[in-house]
Amino acid sequence: MGLALQQARVAMVQGEVPVGAVVVCDGQVIAVGHNCPVGGHDPSAHAEMQALRAAAQALGNYRLPECELYVTLEPCVMCAGAIMHARVKRVVYGAADPKTGACGSVVDLFAEPRLNHHAEVLGGVMRDECVGILQTFFSERRAAAKARRSSAAGDTAGETPTSTPGSLN
Ligand SMILES: [Zn+2]
Repeated sequence: MGLALQQARVAMVQGEVPVGAVVVCDGQVIAVGHNCPVGGHDPSAHAEMQALRAAAQALGNYRLPECELYVTLEPCVMCAGAIMHARVKRVVYGAADPKTGACGSVVDLFAEPRLNHHAEVLGGVMRDECVGILQTFFSERRAAAKARRSSAAGDTAGETPTSTPGSLN
């Protein structure tokens, strides 16, 4: 999970939501990935997808039944689907995702008996570190947005946002 966090930091440096993933096979790291949908213009470029693609290339097989996926954030529906298609043996994640988590937070696809592959899932590993990097990213982004708004408000001479007609303040 430490390596997955390193990948999350790579995403953060690139201005992407910091999520990182690692695929381990027989105790060896065979692939890593970081979240990059913005820079890659690719809605499927989640960390897990990147790591699964690299792992499948490394093994020359789209099925990864001997592999474990470590990811800093609970996988979404798309990534859970890819994990199932790849027959990944075990998924270990750090932070739960109450908005898009597909391992129990919003839905639990791995507990759905009508889907035929059931990876073992373990959440909450290095949870504080995995949550922390996301909190840092979003608080910095909010602060930057606030700074942009206040400098934009300063450009409209003589008018402050609170004196706008119709404002409830
Ligand atoms: Zn995903």
